[in-house]
Amino acid sequence: MPTHMVEKRIGDIRIVGYSLAGEETVIGAPELNICFDIGRAPREVISLDHLCITHGHPDHTAGLHYYFTQRWFIGNEPGTGAGTAYLPEHLLKPMQDLMEVWSRIEGRYTKANFVVATPDVDIKLRRDLILRPFEVNHGVPALGYSAIEVRNKLKPEFAEKTGPELVELKKKGIQIEYRLEVPLITYCGDTAAGDFLDRDHVRNSKIILLECTFFDSEHVTRARAGNHIHVRDLPDIMPRLRNQHIVLIHVTRRTFLRDAKRQLQEVLKPADLERTSFLMDRGGNSRRRSEPHGSDY
Ligand SMILES: [Zn+2]
Ligand SMILES: [Zn+2]
Repeated sequence: MPTHMVEKRIGDIRIVGYSLAGEETVIGAPELNICFDIGRAPREVISLDHLCITHGHPDHTAGLHYYFTQRWFIGNEPGTGAGTAYLPEHLLKPMQDLMEVWSRIEGRYTKANFVVATPDVDIKLRRDLILRPFEVNHGVPALGYSAIEVRNKLKPEFAEKTGPELVELKKKGIQIEYRLEVPLITYCGDTAAGDFLDRDHVRNSKIILLECTFFDSEHVTRARAGNHIHVRDLPDIMPRLRNQHIVLIHVTRRTFLRDAKRQLQEVLKPADLERTSFLMDRGGNSRRRSEPHGSDY
């Protein structure tokens, strides 16, 4: 069955996603069992259990009810199948109301598992994987999320000890391990540049999914008004980021991808160009653009 979704491997993480400003943004990382925003709920991400909602704009949330109903159809009902949507606090009540209104339309109630994501309060997904929500800068309350692998490592001073010696130390209550956090992937949602880019778990994340909505010089005002990033902001942002892979998302429909690429080449240093790509670059010379109307959210 044909799909509009892009599938690619970035570093050692497989991404299945789609992102165009004002139309749809949804990015799944199947091996991590995480989906960032839900867009229009494409079938490729329905089975992912952890859904991270950043803000209320419809290009990011329109498919939320559909996600839960589809899970019910395939037997992943939340609560039994562990499907959960994490979301900013102000969206909890409206989303619960939305589910309620749909139950009146549909004549059947679909269970939905919502958990409020509080900035800087980690959410444990697995023994070795956490989500860290953080505030971004989008003019409306909005969050980004880092997926962070947590490893327990032996402290270097105990490196020479044998297994039985380590067991003895543990028995004595000595802390022989330390906690190492490895940020795997960070999704910033919709946002203008902001202090969050200087956070260690953001700038050291192996992959950062960063919006860059506007590219044309006459779109600077539009970027400022909507709290979005313009390609001209990138030269200031790049030196702050240590990410191995910077993946640009949420490009406006007003700009051809090939023109966006050209603009990017003009403003970035070669080393930064090398680590930067467009999620929606399917390879080849994409001329895709919808009609230049509508809003960019
Ligand atoms: Zn958007
Ligand atoms: Zn938005």
